[in-house]
Amino acid sequence: MPIRALCFDRSMTTFDKPGIDLHTHSVVSDGTEAPGEVIRQAARAGLDAVALTDHDTTAGWAQARAAAVDVGITFIPGIEFSSQLNHASVHVLGYLIDPADEVMLAEMQQVRESRVSRAERMVQMIGGDHDLTWDDVLAVTEPGATVGRPHIADALVSKGLVESRVAAFETILHWRGGYYVAHYAPSPFDAVKLIRRAGGVPVLAHPGSRGRRGMDTETLEGLIEAGLGGLEVGHRENDAASRAMLLEVAAQHDLIVTGSSDYHGTGKPNQLGENTTELGQLRRIIEQATGSEPVRGAGLRL
Ligand code: AMP
Ligand code: ZN
Ligand code: FE
Ligand code: FE
Repeated sequence: MPIRALCFDRSMTTFDKPGIDLHTHSVVSDGTEAPGEVIRQAARAGLDAVALTDHDTTAGWAQARAAAVDVGITFIPGIEFSSQLNHASVHVLGYLIDPADEVMLAEMQQVRESRVSRAERMVQMIGGDHDLTWDDVLAVTEPGATVGRPHIADALVSKGLVESRVAAFETILHWRGGYYVAHYAPSPFDAVKLIRRAGGVPVLAHPGSRGRRGMDTETLEGLIEAGLGGLEVGHRENDAASRAMLLEVAAQHDLIVTGSSDYHGTGKPNQLGENTTELGQLRRIIEQATGSEPVRGAGLRL
């Protein structure tokens, strides 16, 4: 009996609800840990379910799936799909899409390729003023990863030109920093339709951070018309006012509401589980999806 009491027993912990975090990144895009490591970190953080949502790729799913089976937590395969509206980038999370859907695959590939030429162009411009080359970026980028400004940031750090990713984004990589180049991305309306077409559930990521002005209700209604399934309300980039507005829109249109960390390993201060999603909301995502299957861990009744 005393030994039993010392054992880790889920029912005796202080958790009163499951830990569900539906937005994380690995080295397959711009996180700093391998996909399997993200899942193991999630288990260590006490989470019951975690989604991997790398930018514009499903390449991390297989490794994440295997790790989830290994550690026994629920895994939701996802993506964070890049889109663009009025020159501002808009991110749409896509849960449980069919990873073999040809239209989706072609679109993600086009975005990834455009991201590479855009990053090369930015590095060429930065290289005119600072000691930075494309090889420096390649040296800090996992082969095949979806390339983004975070990789240029890591190269700037490795060359001693800035102190951290955050510092790089505040200076050289800022969209008003003089070196910003846009990449190809579909409109968020098309992104939502593509995710639905591929059997997935589209959820608008951090709607409060778009262009630092936030999403207006008219755009939100257009996205809902296009098939948007949910809003990521719990995210550190949504302030109290935008959360209140988003919850109102979600209630009006019966949308799924999520909360997540947007974990990038050591690449961002965001910590696993800092925002979470309610079990009922995850159930709605799974009910709406037809594209792929989650890994069902022992800790959740899904
Ligand atoms: P990109 O899509 O290449 O323009 O880069 C945007 C990515 O950079 C997003 O996925 C963010 O997670 C990341 N990012 C944006 N701001 C910061 C920041 N201040 N520190 C670290 N990463 C950031
Ligand atoms: Zn990112
Ligand atoms: Fe994002
Ligand atoms: Fe993200």
